[in-house]
Amino acid sequence: MTRAHNFCAGPCTLPESVLQELADEMVEYGHSGMSVIEMSHRSADYEAIHFRTLELLRSLYTVPEEFDILLLQGGATLQFAMIPMNLAVAPQRAGYVLGGSWGRKAFADAVKVASAYPAWTAEGSTFTRMPAPREVTIEPDTAYLHVTSNETIEGTRMPDFEGFGARLVADMSSDYLSRPLDWSLFDLVYGGIQKNLGPAGLTVVFVRSALAATSPEHLPSYLRFDSHVASDSLFNTPPVFAVWAMGKVLAWMEASGGVPAMEKRAAERSGLVYDAIDSSGGFYRNPVDPGYRSHMNVVFRLPSPELEEEFLVLAEEERLLNLRGHRSVGGIRASIYSGLPTASVEALVSFMRHFAANRG
Ligand code: PMP
Repeated sequence: MTRAHNFCAGPCTLPESVLQELADEMVEYGHSGMSVIEMSHRSADYEAIHFRTLELLRSLYTVPEEFDILLLQGGATLQFAMIPMNLAVAPQRAGYVLGGSWGRKAFADAVKVASAYPAWTAEGSTFTRMPAPREVTIEPDTAYLHVTSNETIEGTRMPDFEGFGARLVADMSSDYLSRPLDWSLFDLVYGGIQKNLGPAGLTVVFVRSALAATSPEHLPSYLRFDSHVASDSLFNTPPVFAVWAMGKVLAWMEASGGVPAMEKRAAERSGLVYDAIDSSGGFYRNPVDPGYRSHMNVVFRLPSPELEEEFLVLAEEERLLNLRGHRSVGGIRASIYSGLPTASVEALVSFMRHFAANRG
């Protein structure tokens, strides 16, 4: 079997070595006589996997002691509601940066369950950048400012997080563990793991312990952060396959140089694609303000929709797959998450140069 060059925005390509290990261990884990996905989540074997995975998250991301790490279900999408339910308790409110499609979705759910306001919006323009701190309005009684560190659809990212004048809550779904964080700026960081860290089915939340302890009494048990803290994320049956697989991706990341290496790799690899765009004499166009270009999702347009279709068809013939931009914006999108081999990025760049030379 030859693996394709898969630029899917999520779920996405994982390191082949991780897939191979999962396959090798799938039928019998160690000498347990069963698969990890068949065993009790209260068993010693599973607990070892679970706690080792939590330790790896803490050490790789240098998460301070004052944060709890939660392994949850429901995707980043459930957090759009769960976070304001727990942390924006009246009379406190929450500010939201509407920097793209996902920031808007987070805000749309927040207003249903708490008092939330737009602290900055690019609406009217086309989400080609993120705000500078001075452009963000922080109202009185703000519990937190919600940001989306990387907008997966528009291909923008926040270059840094300093100076916003409020505690930050960040959706990092599409650039998780791809840059070191100054944790003093954050109250909570969350994201689904199905882009940089593993398969779908698991959401990782880093939350300050002092805040997680303040969940309002009226919330149902699963929706309270303190339920999950008290049970070390074994409150109910966890998504054991996703936890097991993420542990393997994290071990791969550690062996590959950790988060600083992922950051360098992301800048270099997205840089290869941006170079191909910028040196194409205007054949390829990236609409994003250069200081805010995503290192994970590179979006670009060709001179016409017909050429974009032809590009996608020929790319597919070269086994360069899942390059179609999100249906809401069109164009081309190459998602270059941490587990994608560099050879795939090189194959894409070479294809782009040939295509432009023949059609430009
Ligand atoms: N936030 C961002 C930035 C995303 O890219 C996505 C998924 N593409 C989501 C939230 C939604 O995540 P989930 O599917 O895990 O609910």
